[in-house]
Amino acid sequence: MPELPEVETIASQLRGRGVEGKQILSVKVNWAPTIEPYSVAQFSKALKGTTIEKISRVGKWMLFSLSSGQTLMIHLRMAGSFSMVKGSHDRIVMKLSEGQTLYYRDTRKFGRWKLVDDPQTILFKLGPDALTRRFSLAYFSDAMKKRHRMIKPLILDQSIVAGLGNIYADEALWEAMVHPERLSDSLSDAELAALFKAIKHVLKVGIKNGGTSLGDGKTNYRQVDGESGGHRDEVKAYGRSGKSCERCKKTLKKTVVAQRGTTFCPACQVV
Ligand SMILES: [Zn+2]
Repeated sequence: MPELPEVETIASQLRGRGVEGKQILSVKVNWAPTIEPYSVAQFSKALKGTTIEKISRVGKWMLFSLSSGQTLMIHLRMAGSFSMVKGSHDRIVMKLSEGQTLYYRDTRKFGRWKLVDDPQTILFKLGPDALTRRFSLAYFSDAMKKRHRMIKPLILDQSIVAGLGNIYADEALWEAMVHPERLSDSLSDAELAALFKAIKHVLKVGIKNGGTSLGDGKTNYRQVDGESGGHRDEVKAYGRSGKSCERCKKTLKKTVVAQRGTTFCPACQVV
């Protein structure tokens, strides 16, 4: 499932392929629920002739700022991805100027495209993006101390911090040596500082490596044009249950925390 580093990788690859500045010549929607509540006709009409001025990201949302003044907000959910070449499971196809075509691919069909006049109508629900200065140690410590909830679901809560999903939450907790079931207000200042630093660090390394793909399944995260993310060899906890902890060599364990599969080191991450 694409998290902050995967969405950032895709956004930057689309910029790198020159999608910014291109005019949308036509839009074909093959799976209408992707663009709900718009009808295919309304959606195509609103996009046709407008130019994609800027591609950016907030949390796990990708934003196409359009010359019409509207913003196309894309959430990839489980398995959305982009390609410049035709493939199977292409849900939306946009013909762009200069002979370019953008294919939005989604095997699981959970991804959603929202066309809005003001991105804040969606973004107001989000906490600060994990890689912005608004997500500061003071903000994070305060948010954790004033709640009395397990730490892992809290850092997954997009209304508190935007961008983390299951992979990078497990990675950050492992790196900071914090047990996923610790109560948020039980963490010391030093632990909060370590976790804060780990969150920023794992996300930045994830971006540097072009995101994380685990396994080769169809639903796995793919970079633009189908490449796997390079971060898979770098993960320390997520998906490594039964393997040895790189820090202490004990066996990593899998459990369920707030309905999410969670891998941690029972020796380094103590309750
Ligand atoms: Zn360990």
